[in-house]
Amino acid sequence: YCSNEPNSLVSDACVSYATLEDINTEIRPAIQFLTQQVDFFTYYRLDLYGRECPFWSDDAGFCANRACAVELADEKDIPESWRSSELGKIEGPKASQPSSEVKKEEPSPFKGTLGEDTAESCIFEPQEGESRDYCVPEDESNGSNCVYVSLLDNPERFTGYAGTSANNVWRAVYQENCFNTQAQSQKQSSNQPPFGGAFGRGIPADPNAAANLKNVMDRRKHEVVQKNLIAPPPEEQCLEKRVFYRVISGMHASISMHLCYNFFNQTTGQWGPNLQCYKDRLHNFPDRIQNMYFNYAILLRAVAKLRKNLNHYTFCAGDKRTNEFTRKKLSALTDSIASHPSVFDESVMFRDENSIVLKEDFRNRFRNVSRLMDCVGCDKCRLWGKIQTSGYGTAMKILFEYDENEENGRNPVLRRTELVALINTLGRLSNSLYAFTRFGAMIERERVIE
Ligand code: FAD
Repeated sequence: YCSNEPNSLVSDACVSYATLEDINTEIRPAIQFLTQQVDFFTYYRLDLYGRECPFWSDDAGFCANRACAVELADEKDIPESWRSSELGKIEGPKASQPSSEVKKEEPSPFKGTLGEDTAESCIFEPQEGESRDYCVPEDESNGSNCVYVSLLDNPERFTGYAGTSANNVWRAVYQENCFNTQAQSQKQSSNQPPFGGAFGRGIPADPNAAANLKNVMDRRKHEVVQKNLIAPPPEEQCLEKRVFYRVISGMHASISMHLCYNFFNQTTGQWGPNLQCYKDRLHNFPDRIQNMYFNYAILLRAVAKLRKNLNHYTFCAGDKRTNEFTRKKLSALTDSIASHPSVFDESVMFRDENSIVLKEDFRNRFRNVSRLMDCVGCDKCRLWGKIQTSGYGTAMKILFEYDENEENGRNPVLRRTELVALINTLGRLSNSLYAFTRFGAMIERERVIE
């Protein structure tokens, strides 16, 4: 797979940087339109404040900067069909839910039976689909702590969140990549915590088990900060483990790109690109940039794969015209991506005899990464951290659990929040690729002047 790859190709994706940049130039206006002009994609519903960090307590990690605060959306600005009063009227999660195990002879549950305003994709968790989720869902129907946020009012940018708290989260995120220490840590004696090193084997998928480890985590919190983050996996690791690492490193790189590109200059009081920030965090780390491009490739592939499924998707936008408008705009984007040769081949993953166990492990580890977002001490960073982990989780669900040609509702159902997260995460990466070229031009200008 992808052997003899020349340097111009993004490893593990078999696509060149130049091709991805060309695609980005072509589709960027459509992504910007969706993420800036279409209500469906500009409001996100999530539990932003209600969930404690399940792994350690970190009251000192709370970010009090103004830039860390999130402005909540006023419920009257939200389309009526999404308001909590309306959502409360809809019956329990089982009501008119399409099963992911629909029998062949049954008509598609999406064709006309759900109605525009009560599609379960709007709010509820399809419980039987849960085992195929790569993220902990955000918008549980009974989540009284859920809030609506306008993503336009809360752009991802520099907040000043840094230090021990931020480092702990990143470190724990990277420790989820320690697939290979599992056998080793199972041999540990029972009076030792069930993870190697600080986070070693990864955090148990079960949140109760995780809560039991909280005290141990608290004790170790300070140790963790002192150590460097774990090294990237060697190239000889299997493709799946490399992909896991690339996804989290690429997400980290994209977040760094945004905070450097939308930096607050305390002298001028203006927001704008900070070249030194870019140099320190990204310019000298081509692997980080490569991983960011890799993520763009997998997001493109996931969105393209949704193409046929969108025909029957209910957008819960409130009225038929808005639903159709949203569908048309999103379909224009998926068509445009699909007009290019595929940029990622997910069929080469999870193929050998250990793949069932490996996939389960991969999924649980990514769910833990999504749980770790509740440990982020800055509200704005937590918001975008949750959106992006959900966006990648959704992309993986589509890549590894979806049949591209299935039109009869047998694929796992995508919740509204998953689709919103997916498209906004694609938007974040599209902006990151753009910012990368802008920073490149600044560096070139500097070189010419010298
Ligand atoms: P960090 O970015 O914290 O990185 C820590 C270490 O990780 C580095 O020293 C390096 O060894 C390694 N590393 C860095 N990048 C990569 C990579 N791409 N791949 C592999 N290893 C890498 N701050 C904001 O201003 N705005 C935000 O929106 C924001 N969102 C955040 C979201 C999350 C989920 C988290 C955990 C933090 C967020 N932060 C945000 C904080 C920001 O990411 C940094 O942690 C902070 O700016 C401190 O940076 P640092 O120089 O210590 O390095």
